[in-house]
Order: sequence, then C-alpha cells, then structure tokens
Amino acid sequence: METHFSKEQLKDKDNKSSEKILRKCVHCGFCNTTCPTYNLLGDELDGPRGRIYLIKDIIENNKPANEKIVKHIDRCLSCYSCMTTCPSGVNYMHLIDHGRSHIEKTYKRPFSDRLMRNFLSQVMPYPLRFRIIGILTSIIKPFSFMFPEKIKSMISLMPISFPRKNLPKKEIYFAQGEKKPIARVALLAGCVQQVIAPQINEATIRLLNRHGAEVVVIKGIDCCGSLNHHLGKSDLANKTFKKNILAWYDEYLNNGLDAIISNTSGCGTTLKDYKFIFRWDDELKKKAKKVSELTKDISEYLEENVKLNFINKNKNEKEYKIAYHSACSMQHGQKIHDVPINLIKKTGNKVFEIPEGHFCCGSAGTYNLLQTDIAKKLLKDKISNIKKVNPQFITTGNIGCITQIASGTKIPILHTAEIIDWYTGGPKPKILKNL
Ligand code: SF4
Ligand code: SF4
Repeated sequence: METHFSKEQLKDKDNKSSEKILRKCVHCGFCNTTCPTYNLLGDELDGPRGRIYLIKDIIENNKPANEKIVKHIDRCLSCYSCMTTCPSGVNYMHLIDHGRSHIEKTYKRPFSDRLMRNFLSQVMPYPLRFRIIGILTSIIKPFSFMFPEKIKSMISLMPISFPRKNLPKKEIYFAQGEKKPIARVALLAGCVQQVIAPQINEATIRLLNRHGAEVVVIKGIDCCGSLNHHLGKSDLANKTFKKNILAWYDEYLNNGLDAIISNTSGCGTTLKDYKFIFRWDDELKKKAKKVSELTKDISEYLEENVKLNFINKNKNEKEYKIAYHSACSMQHGQKIHDVPINLIKKTGNKVFEIPEGHFCCGSAGTYNLLQTDIAKKLLKDKISNIKKVNPQFITTGNIGCITQIASGTKIPILHTAEIIDWYTGGPKPKILKNL
C-alpha cells in the first residue's frame, strides 16, 4: 500500500512502525474471509482491509477520528484472525493499537460511552474494586431488567457469588519433593480471573509445584495492562506495563526466573508484546524484551519444560468427550493451537475441535460489554458449533472465553490447566461434580 507520511511525521515512533505495516498490505482482502465482524455485518469497513484504510487515513493525515471511523474501529474484536490469514505478514495488532490510541487522543466520545469506558478502566484491572462491584451487582441482579441493555449484559456476565480461595495467599509456593526445584517461575495472578475463578491459579500452582517448579507471585502485579491498552488508554496501560516490567526484571536479576507463566492467553499475548511497546524506550527496552522472552503460556511451558506425570488412565473410570475452544489470543495472538490439544489428549480423553474454531466467541476483553449485540451473535454461533461435537465439557485457556461461553450454555467449561492438574494428581474440578 502506498503511503505519504512526511519526514517530520516519521520522526514519531508509532507513525514509523505503522508506515512499515501499511506498506506490507497488498489490498488482497484475504483477511476479510476470516474476520468475524466482516462475516457478520458484510460491510467492507467492518473488515480488516477497510479498517486498515480508516486507520491510515487518520494517522497519515493527522486528523481527528470521527463518529463513523470510531464505530468501525470499535467493532473490531482484536481477535487477530486476520493476521493468521494475511499472506503478507501485516501486523494488524500493532496498527489497531496505534489507531485506538489516536482515537482516544482526538475524539470525544458521547457521555454514556465515556462513562462506561472509564468505569471499566477504573474497576476491572483492580481485583478489590472488581470484587466490591461484583458484590453490589449480585444485590441488584434480580432488578437487572430495569437497566439499559449494556448494563444488563454486564450484570448477566457477573457471577452470583465468588468462589472461595483454597490456597493461602503467598509470594512463594515451594516445589514439592526433596530434590532441588527444576525451575523457578513467576505466575501472572491476573485481575478479574483471580476474583471470579481462583481455582485456575490454584490448579496452575499445584501442578507446577507437584512437578518440581517453584512459583513466585509477585506482590503488586495483578493486571497485565491489556484492558486499558485495548481501550486506547495508552498512558494508563503504559503505567501498568512499566510497573510489571520493573518488578519482574528485578526478580529475574536478584533471585532468578526461568519463565513468567500466563494462564490467560489474552494477557500472555500482551506480555509477549511488551518488547515491541517499549522498543524505543532507552530505560526499559532491554528489560521489556527480557520479560517478553520469559513469558510462556502455561500449556507452552508444560510442553517444553515439564515431564508430566499423568495418572494411568485406566484408573479413571470414564472417558470424556471434551471440546477444545481455541481462544483467539491463543491461536491468533500467540500462534499456539496444537500444544494444549495434545496435552489434553495425554489424559486419555477424546478431544474435539469446534467447527469454525477460528472465529471469536465474542468475549474479546471488554468487547462483550461494549458491543453487546455483535458479541451475542458471535456467542450464539459459537454455542451452536460447540453443540455439533456434543461434548460433556468444554475447555480453553482464557478466562474471558470461559465467562462468555458459560453465559450461553449449561455445558460445563473449565481451564485446560485444571484438567492437567486433575489428571496428574490434583482434585477433580468442582464444576464437573455431576459428570
Ligand atoms: S482483529 Fe478480528 S475483528 Fe478485527 S479486523 Fe481482524 S479479524 Fe476482524
Ligand atoms: S490479507 Fe493482508 S495484505 Fe491482504 S488486505 Fe488483508 S491485511 Fe492487506
């Protein structure tokens, strides 16, 4: 694609990167075929190629975004399915991040929109605030019909109660056994996940400890920063990124870290991108690069570093039919697809991929709260595709997808780490108690 940035404009690091990305696009439109919003809405501007033109227009001409542009950019899920399809290697992720940040700086959203986005930005990344809002929400849940559609959706996605934590809160969870630990890893505790599904971190810690790895959960690191990053709130996001990078790098230097484990693929994708985000920052670039290089999804880490002690499958009475939902951030963002499937197969159960599995379930961070109609349609399609494989339960590696899919079906859904923990000596997940 031809670009016309001036020399002055190219002094800006984001313009410079975006120019390189834009020049790779050959307008072929292959990406449209796998874009969920293009398939659903049929508008060129609701597909990646159209959005690329919109972003080019505002950044190259340095003009403020308008209502029409914002509408189409906001409808993008950041699922990155288009990146998997693109034959030219266009990094749409970095381009839309730039576009969103430009929108945030140049466009004044309607009041209700600003209120909602600021609320999400000020509540979701903070576990305590989120818990308080969750408790308040459970009180008003019976009256949710009185609220506008978006608030109603938000209330419906909130659990009625939060599960109790079974593992005491500690900074270091020591490896089991007499031998020297095989590794020392940091776990990203996450923000929303540690409140609504603490069992995921608990299964991850148990599993790693049982196989000889020491797990460090560094105080003060909760959110990875992607929530604000995807809302276009770059300053807030960068503050979180910086805090996390400094804390992990300090731990790496002083006590040693072999990996940083993420068990939420959305967060893992962002952690792996810290090195790009701080590429121009003299103080942070080396540290950010190290943090990104150390980051591994839990499935990736287990596959590469741990000899899992699966319990002999004959000891388990049943063979389950499991549907694997490949989260977009896992398959498109981190290009991890077969690894979790192969791990689950080692439990001796039958694993089925979901038809049209490259399409998003509609969760996409805060998307299901901001673009409720599109998210609901995508969820409906996802559930109907899940039903085609008739599973007894579903598994995935991303809390957003777990919450979204659970809101549309009674088929139990759990994190892949919970299955691996169970089949290597951990407890059977409570959600499967009737199976
Ligand atoms: S990120 Fe997803 S929704 Fe956005 S343009 Fe690409 S394929 Fe479409
Ligand atoms: S597939 Fe890639 S090169 Fe083709 S239009 Fe989409 S982004 Fe551009």
